Amino acid sequence: MTAEGNLPGIDTTKPHSARMYDYYLGGKTHYEVDVQAAEAVIETVPEIVAAARANRDFIARVTRTLATEYGIRQFLDLGSGIPTKPNLHQVAQSAAPDARVVYTDNDPIVLQYAHALLSSTPEGRTAYLHADITDPAAVMNSPEVRDTLDLNRPVALSINAILHFLPDAAGPHEIVAALLEPLAPGSFLCLTHAAADVGDPALDELGRTVEEMYAKVGTTLRLRDRAEVARFFDGLELVEPGLVMAHYWRPEPGQTTELKEGQPSMLAAVARKP
Ligand code: SAH
Repeated sequence: MTAEGNLPGIDTTKPHSARMYDYYLGGKTHYEVDVQAAEAVIETVPEIVAAARANRDFIARVTRTLATEYGIRQFLDLGSGIPTKPNLHQVAQSAAPDARVVYTDNDPIVLQYAHALLSSTPEGRTAYLHADITDPAAVMNSPEVRDTLDLNRPVALSINAILHFLPDAAGPHEIVAALLEPLAPGSFLCLTHAAADVGDPALDELGRTVEEMYAKVGTTLRLRDRAEVARFFDGLELVEPGLVMAHYWRPEPGQTTELKEGQPSMLAAVARKP
């Protein structure tokens, strides 16, 4: 165990997806149960480590791109995850010191470590909201969102590596539409999602195995195919290069990946609300 022990509301007897993801990323906020579950997944799909890294790198590139090329100064990050390096506000504020960022997650361990997400520049602002994405009204009407962000101006809504934890019955497409609804024209949706049907039967079989591994530890994992992920962007204008694997979204010269040519990571896209 490397996280602090006996934190309120945190079940250290069962593995948890946020803490497993922290382990994939080489973080320190997880427990022995998480290490065991994550190691079992890594043994089945070693690429998951590079895919998790590719997902984080995508988040950094998108945040920088939106701040520098599209003038975005407001970010709402849902399912932020356990603090890591760099966090989204650090990327945003290094490009635009006055950037404002609201983080939300529903996991008690993220709440426990949220202070690391609140180290804003003096010109900018950050806030943390403990909330569930399945209640979009609670997120969008919260004082954290309303007092930190001006919803009359564009906001980048980032929903990365979270919707694959929602079953179809939770209505993920309706949730995303409801979250976008109050945002001003010129806002952006940035989204990544674990991919199904990547065109290689062996990988698709592996995907199903990983779904089962998560199910065994009590977490719904629902991989979605291109068409299902593309539907999150209905009514929006995709920016170049459209819906691609995360490591192919505007790669930067200095950023490397251990993924081999053509190997899948997470489906990823950025789109503008007209
Ligand atoms: N967005 C970050 C972290 C992804 S890990 C990144 O892409 O790097 C997925 C996160 O989603 C976890 O922290 C988990 O606690 C959170 N999460 C899962 N289901 C959620 C829900 N229903 N509401 C809010 N957060 C949720």
